[in-house]
Amino acid sequence: MTLLVTGSAGFIGSCYVRQHFEHSVEPVVSLDALTYAGHLSTLGPVLKRPEHTFVHASIGDVDAVRAIFEKHKPRAVLNFAAESHVDRSILGPGEFIETNVVGTYRLLECAREYWNGLQGEATAGFRFLHVSTDEVYGTLKPKDAPFSETNRYEPNSPYSASKAASDHLVRAWHHTYGLPVLTTNCSNNYGPYHFPEKLIPLCIMNALNGKQLPVYGDGQQIRDWLFVEDHTRGIRTVLETGVLGETYNIGGWNEKANLDVVKLICNLLDELQPRADGISYSTQIAFVADRPGHDRRYAIDARKIERELGWKPVETFETGIRKTVQWYLANQAWVAEVTAER
Ligand code: NAD
Repeated sequence: MTLLVTGSAGFIGSCYVRQHFEHSVEPVVSLDALTYAGHLSTLGPVLKRPEHTFVHASIGDVDAVRAIFEKHKPRAVLNFAAESHVDRSILGPGEFIETNVVGTYRLLECAREYWNGLQGEATAGFRFLHVSTDEVYGTLKPKDAPFSETNRYEPNSPYSASKAASDHLVRAWHHTYGLPVLTTNCSNNYGPYHFPEKLIPLCIMNALNGKQLPVYGDGQQIRDWLFVEDHTRGIRTVLETGVLGETYNIGGWNEKANLDVVKLICNLLDELQPRADGISYSTQIAFVADRPGHDRRYAIDARKIERELGWKPVETFETGIRKTVQWYLANQAWVAEVTAER
């Protein structure tokens, strides 16, 4: 038995692999193209484990992916690999189409070819789990109900459109070819090893480095936050007990305005590592021009995974954000390493 995990050197994929080895000795072959967002250091001690094999390749490299299937014969694929940053997708959508759409298509085709060649129990047991985002559902008005699995797809950014396209490919490979797939759509994640271009790690690091804390527009955009380890536990739950062909929304019922998140980070830093001059980090907040097409509100209705699979988040936003700030305070060398490399 082996798992194939793609995007394993990124924020969420690496968390999945690290957490896997806290519970299991099942081998993992992990694959990552090591883009600017992928760093082997996110895998930490897992890299030295005999049950772990790392392959430096793209999900779009059919020869490399086929070779992994042939050699390692995985019982499941977990597809985390993606271009994931909305701002970058606005500046250069091409990479997002290449990896998130074409790459997922190629990975699906390799998985289908491999699955077609399996026999007996191995055929029935195989799973292709695709990790996706709530951003595929578009934006909510203040009084709208949170996104459920039956919401229409209405992606608004090149990133979310590329993820929506990949979700549709996964669905079609199930309905057309019978590939045993599962899809998860999760809200915004935060936690350790998050590349410091995203709101929470960027704010922590900018605050510590005496830089401005940029807040888009009026800062009232609402995101629904989930601690990354709760997300990866949810994915494991879906992999082991989810119903084939189904989609599961994963979220922590933690809607917060971006400005409030930044203020909370400032308060925590004021407590844990006060500025030498005694002034609050919140004085570094700076409002900047809004992102084009910026979605106003995301919120996840996670009742299906809670009711049907028994998953629930462990962390509240308050406990998770404290752990996250503490982790960045203790791991500034990691941030320096991953930002210096490119
Ligand atoms: P990330 O950017 O931190 O990591 C992505 C990883 O994929 C990186 O290691 C990168 O090197 C790798 N990668 C990129 N292109 C590749 C390719 N062609 N082949 C192989 N590897 C490639 O992203 P993340 O935050 O860890 O997100 C992982 C997945 O979870 C993505 O599919 C994303 O859409 C989804 N997701 C993210 C969030 C979030 O808040 N971060 C929320 C919901 C869903």
